[in-house]
Amino acid sequence: MLKKFMPNEHVKRVLDINPQKLREMGIKGVITDLDNTLVAWDVKDATPEIMEWFKKMQEHDIKVTIISNNEEKRVSTFSEPLEVPFVSSARKPLGHAFKRAAKQMGLKKEEIVVVGDQLLTDVLGGNFAGFHTILVVPIVETDGKITRMNRMIERRILNQMRKKGMITWEEK
Ligand SMILES: [Mg+2]
Repeated sequence: MLKKFMPNEHVKRVLDINPQKLREMGIKGVITDLDNTLVAWDVKDATPEIMEWFKKMQEHDIKVTIISNNEEKRVSTFSEPLEVPFVSSARKPLGHAFKRAAKQMGLKKEEIVVVGDQLLTDVLGGNFAGFHTILVVPIVETDGKITRMNRMIERRILNQMRKKGMITWEEK
C-alpha cells in the first residue's frame, strides 16, 4: 500500500521541472496541482517566475492543465489570466479529473506527468490513474482546513516510508 504513495520523482520546487528534460522523457503534458504547488495556498495570482515557467512549457510544446480540489472561483481566478485550462473541485485522489485533463490535452497517460505537493491527493491519485508522479515541497508550511487533516495522515505515511528506507530524496 505504501508504494501507492511513492512519487516517481521528488523536486524542491515546480520551477525545477525542466521542459527540455520532460521532452527527452517523451512527456508532452503536465497535470499540476495549484495550492502550495504553483503558489502558496493563500496567494491569488501567479508570480512572475510561475508565468515564466508556463511560458517555457509552451515554448517546448508541453501542454499544462491545472487540477485542484479547491473551488471554481479560486482556480479560475488563478488560471484564466494565464490562459491555462483547469479542473476545479477535482476530488483528487479520485481519477475523473486526471482522466478528463488527459483527454482534453489529447495525450496518453504515458505522455503526462502529474505534479503536486500532497501524497494523499496528488501522488496517490496520479499513481492510481497510472501517471508518472512528481512530488514538490509545499511552498508554505501552512495549509487550508481540509489539507491540515490530510497532512496529519501524510506525516504518518512519510514516517513509515522513512522507516522502510523508501525515501530516496534529501529532506530538509
Ligand atoms: Mg496542493
